[in-house]
Amino acid sequence: MQNIPELWDFDHGISAIDTDYVRPRLDASHLVVRGGRAAYVDVGVNHSVPRLLAALAAKNLDPAEVDWVFLTHVHLDHAGGAGELLRHLPNAKVLVHPRGAAHLIEPDKLIAGTKAVYGAETFAGLYGEIVPIPAERIVEAQDDARFRLDGSEFHCIHTPGHALHHYCLVDTESHSVFAGDTFGISYRVFDTAKGAFIFPATTPTHFDPQQAHASLDRITSFEPAAVFLTHYSRVTEVARLAADMHACLNAYVGIARNCAAQGEQRDACMQNLMHAYLVKRVREHGCTLDQATVDLWLHMDVELNAQGLAVWLDRMRT
Ligand SMILES: [Zn+2]
Repeated sequence: MQNIPELWDFDHGISAIDTDYVRPRLDASHLVVRGGRAAYVDVGVNHSVPRLLAALAAKNLDPAEVDWVFLTHVHLDHAGGAGELLRHLPNAKVLVHPRGAAHLIEPDKLIAGTKAVYGAETFAGLYGEIVPIPAERIVEAQDDARFRLDGSEFHCIHTPGHALHHYCLVDTESHSVFAGDTFGISYRVFDTAKGAFIFPATTPTHFDPQQAHASLDRITSFEPAAVFLTHYSRVTEVARLAADMHACLNAYVGIARNCAAQGEQRDACMQNLMHAYLVKRVREHGCTLDQATVDLWLHMDVELNAQGLAVWLDRMRT
């Protein structure tokens, strides 16, 4: 058993586990414990699994007491380790959006799509061998469905925009929402006296700005006290952050339109403008980190977000 990982404990039996994806505090799994039963929300990748199990042991729970693995969507930084994790959880079911289920049962297409985004070598380092999930362990998350963990209820809402196979979980007990990537990315390294800094994740291949705005509105309609993000964990001030997200989405669309006619330079144009835009916002937020650290944290998302905008622009043209 490896050392017990750094765990962040919140109210209502919710903890964040660092999945050790890319760098510390980039990708979180959340463990929810209610009345001696447990659920994970998003699980990171294969090499996250020992940490997830160690966190469970730290809560004095047995793997047989895990009822649910909630996967907000099937992108591999959220779902890549699910098949491997399930081998250790005899009673858990996986809840996934109907559009994502087939990808977990037969992950070939998901693997090929992810390799297309990251390249084969990076893929192997980040994700390893993806373990398929037996169909009988999968429950499809229909919009508005409700699922129980001991006495508490999770309300499932379909939230396209980041991905068509994305849902969020409204936790009625803690008055919070587990939002996957639909409510954006908020790295704790960018926290300042002004609070959290947030920006949208427009990863390929389903990004759609109208859906993204609507899904933000659907999340805020529940007036949650907090939102739990996979990147990275708990944020409050939900109304302010939602306004920041809407503003950033509009800016991203403006960037895409400004670069659309640039031919071969289009994708580089979007990366440059998005990088400049996010750096400006980070600085206005009061972040005093050195530029290399800011760039380190923004680099991967700027690249993925620009790719997602490119796919969206191409889809608009056809
Ligand atoms: Zn993600």
